Amino acid sequence: MQQAESLWSASAVEAAVGDPLQESMSADVVVVGGGFTGLSTALHLARQGVSVIVLEAQEIGHGGSGRNVGLANAGLWMEPDQMASKLGEGPGERLYHELAQAPDLVFSLIEQHQIACEPVRNGTLHLAHSGMGERELQRRWRQLNARGAPVTLLDRAQTRKRTGAEGYQAALFDPRAGTIQPLAYARGLARAAQEAGAIIATQTPVTALDRQAPSGWLLHTPSGTVAAAQVVLATNAYSGPLYPSLVQSFVPINFFQYASEPLSETQLARILPGREGTWDTRSIMNAFRLDQQGRFILGSMGDLLPADRLADWADNWITRSYPELGRLSWQHRWVGQIAFSQDHLPHFHELASGLYSCMGYSGRGIGPGTWMGRALAQYLCTGDTTVMPLPVTQPSRVPLRDLQAAFYEVAARTAHRFPRLS
Ligand SMILES: Cc1cc2nc3c(=O)[nH]c(=O)nc-3n(C[C@H](O)[C@H](O)[C@H](O)COP(=O)(O)OP(=O)(O)OC[C@H]3O[C@@H](n4cnc5c(N)ncnc54)[C@H](O)[C@@H]3O)c2cc1C
Repeated sequence: MQQAESLWSASAVEAAVGDPLQESMSADVVVVGGGFTGLSTALHLARQGVSVIVLEAQEIGHGGSGRNVGLANAGLWMEPDQMASKLGEGPGERLYHELAQAPDLVFSLIEQHQIACEPVRNGTLHLAHSGMGERELQRRWRQLNARGAPVTLLDRAQTRKRTGAEGYQAALFDPRAGTIQPLAYARGLARAAQEAGAIIATQTPVTALDRQAPSGWLLHTPSGTVAAAQVVLATNAYSGPLYPSLVQSFVPINFFQYASEPLSETQLARILPGREGTWDTRSIMNAFRLDQQGRFILGSMGDLLPADRLADWADNWITRSYPELGRLSWQHRWVGQIAFSQDHLPHFHELASGLYSCMGYSGRGIGPGTWMGRALAQYLCTGDTTVMPLPVTQPSRVPLRDLQAAFYEVAARTAHRFPRLS
């Protein structure tokens, strides 16, 4: 029996944080959006004594932060050499080396604030599904190795042993990474920000944004206004009409997940005995992992489809990958939107004087969102742009955005219908 409720909201130990805004207020900084970026910004500002209010339209973690796979990876999806070729060698290498440390920041915040989010820092496995996938992993290994990353290439037998799964011919193991319960992590960041002095207002959508003379901004919500000298829009893929050019700066890509009931000890014996999180090299990428209770979590690109067509896909996937498991009982299914920027890099925008945004994580936002939030807090306190690991840019319109999104959706549906072709 499946619930269209995410496993993460059903299993989060950290309590929901925040109440609706009750009255008009003011602060030094207002953050719009209660995900990793906004909450890390708020936490690090509040720690420095800056007054900060987070305005979240729904609940903390309503966006990608509460819906993702929970792989806290080092760096971006993009290969490190590509970061250097897109940004220039110096800035590209800087971004790589900073984001390589992002899991350290995530796991140290979890430790410092005792966030109950199932942290497991046993690394991740990037799995090759084909010869081309294996060549991609070899290329990644060379690039990461040249930059001193402690990554290891595993052959088919080692990959089989580490995953228990059929069908993967190699893996790239990255011990810097780990897994978390992402919604609980977001709630824990919100709690930590609140404890440091930030105000967290949930069920408070920002409906309009006005410049205020001589400087600063006035944000309108259904329950009052909030005035601030500086504003951060941390809305990523969940950006709406508030600032239309942000919406045009990314392609929204759906990614759905299914979670089983907790597996028995016998079933678990050979599945990911090291508890790494995984994803594969398919263009319509699949990811799988276990949670703390031993539930199997399987995800792939695409929207949730009606009439359980994806449950058939998930059952088939299990039959092919773990034939000894038999049929699993799927208990949760959910979907989230990823913001793919045109160049697959995150972007730091100064939209107007005192109005900033950091977004476009392209599916890699746990570490990067936390890292960028901290950098943004530092920038807001000092005005020194060199603390940001990304150049200051303006949002640029992605050509044929809606067509690209539709293309990915069709490709995902086709891949799930004909899995042997993908
Ligand atoms: C299904 C899925 C799987 C993923 N897997 C991984 C993974 O394994 N590892 C990884 O590193 N990354 C992953 N990502 C990416 C990662 O989750 C995101 O990059 C990250 O959560 C972005 O955080 P954020 O704070 O910038 O935005 P979000 O978490 O999306 O938060 C934006 C918030 O802004 C709020 N908002 C929007 N408009 C307004 C408004 N007008 N007023 C007030 N509030 C507003 C929304 O309600 C939302 O809560 C995945 C993403 C998805 C969707």
